[in-house]
Amino acid sequence: MKVYSKEKTLARMIENFFSCPYCFQEISFLIDPSVPLQHYIEDCEVCCNPISVRIEVKNGEIENFFAENLGQ
Ligand SMILES: [Zn+2]
Repeated sequence: MKVYSKEKTLARMIENFFSCPYCFQEISFLIDPSVPLQHYIEDCEVCCNPISVRIEVKNGEIENFFAENLGQ
């Protein structure tokens, strides 16, 4: 769905820092705050393991952020 926005919020991304559930290094992902519920898998930039990421966005802010490993 394509939504025209009068606000200048289209390209705004939030950089969220967290600890990798595998290697415990601090890494960051860029999050699009225009999507209220997000769930995707992205590889850790340090150890390359797949991290399951769940994000809840409210009023353009990250309300909840979960990063979990995919093993069990
Ligand atoms: Zn890692």
